[in-house]
Amino acid sequence: MPTILNPATEEPLADLESAGVEETDAAIAAAKRAFSSWRIVAPADRARLLRRLATLVEEHAEELARIESRNVGKPISGARGEVAMVAQVFHFYAGAVDKHHGATIPVAGGEALTFHEPLGVVGLIVPWNFPLNIASWKLGPALACGNTVVLKPAELTPLSALRLAELALDAGIPEGVVNVVVGAGSVVGQRLVEHPDVAKIGFTGSTEVGRQVMAGAAATVKRVTLELGGKSANVVFADADLERAAAAAPYAVFDNAGQDCCARSRILVQRSVYDEFLDSLVTATANVKVGDPALDDTEMGPLVSAAHRETVAGFVEGEPRFRGEVPDGPGFWFPCTLVEAGNDDRIAREEVFGPIATVIPFEDEAHAVRLANETPYGLSGSIWTRDGARALRVVRAVEAGVLSVNSNSSVRVSTPFGGFKQSGFGRELGLEALAGYSEVKSVFLSTEA
Ligand code: NDP
Repeated sequence: MPTILNPATEEPLADLESAGVEETDAAIAAAKRAFSSWRIVAPADRARLLRRLATLVEEHAEELARIESRNVGKPISGARGEVAMVAQVFHFYAGAVDKHHGATIPVAGGEALTFHEPLGVVGLIVPWNFPLNIASWKLGPALACGNTVVLKPAELTPLSALRLAELALDAGIPEGVVNVVVGAGSVVGQRLVEHPDVAKIGFTGSTEVGRQVMAGAAATVKRVTLELGGKSANVVFADADLERAAAAAPYAVFDNAGQDCCARSRILVQRSVYDEFLDSLVTATANVKVGDPALDDTEMGPLVSAAHRETVAGFVEGEPRFRGEVPDGPGFWFPCTLVEAGNDDRIAREEVFGPIATVIPFEDEAHAVRLANETPYGLSGSIWTRDGARALRVVRAVEAGVLSVNSNSSVRVSTPFGGFKQSGFGRELGLEALAGYSEVKSVFLSTEA
């Protein structure tokens, strides 16, 4: 396994050994053994264990945030926010354990009951951009429903998941319930997908690998939840509070250095205010604080790896409208970049996953909706307008799973998150996520004498 580096300094952080098929099988076997007793833990006890894990995450928040910041290269302020969300996620699903229950349904000749039952062993495959956060979105509902898990973090960023697994044991969650296997996606990930004892794969990552997961899962008819890529629109109408929209737009793309599936990387601006808005956007982008992720006021760090920086750089052709500054010296830095382009250009069609925003003019509401939807993806997006009726018309017309009005916000613990079209299917977060980690059983009881 490659040495794990700090992307801001290129200094080594850890050397881990890669697991292979044998270790993956051992983790699946441990999860299978643990399932028979974990599934029957009384709901109040399971909730108590999840709550204890949430509290331990809170108690170790600074340690976890520093691990995440150093491993991913993300600013410490962002990492602190993510760890706070991880604790909230475990609190939320602790509270959900005894609320996800079946129903009694009136039928002729008896009574019908439904039960929500765990699936068994679930494989959780997560990417490197929000390693701990995305892991918690899957672990919370999976454990709440009574499943046992094998979590595979991305090879580049396994450190926070390993620490979380220790905290799960400290919380009293029995051995074998939470397993973490570190290794390559093509080995560990693929083995989870094909193994007959794994009942479901919860996957977040690229659309390309998502397709492979879906195809591989077909052989054993595994359940899959896919949270994939995006190419989301930030639609700015002439009637918006333009100052507020321009101040916010950089953070909808450059947060996490653009390595965010929800990045609003296509900024669609109504032509009548295009020049005025672009000037403000350039000024706001120039103010994004890029530098040492360990400093409290840093807003953007480096990209995760040298290879990823090369991929991102390959998207810029010609002279961009704006290119920001980056620190000298080591680190996988890439500047905040604004490009004017057409919606059909490669940079507006493909997911860059780096700090590059494409600015595109539109004529009217119908044109804006058409441009927003002209993409195979459908994950997130924002609409900026002071006209409430227009906001509602546009959010209903845009084909995406997570939208915000006059805000960049994408994610809340209690609201469902997931994509339309090739951004995937299934929902994480909120009570909706519980359906993805349980099976409904329907039972008929005859009341005939
Ligand atoms: P990848 O799809 O390359 O990897 C995601 C995970 O899948 C990693 O753990 C990886 O392991 C694993 N993996 C790779 N190959 C296989 C395989 N054949 N079978 C099973 N698992 C495999 O994505 P990245 O890690 O590069 O993350 C970036 C992508 O993820 C972007 O496209 C982004 O949009 C998307 N993403 C989507 C999100 C969403 O919620 N919709 C959120 C975050 C990211 P390893 O890397 O160790 O080899």
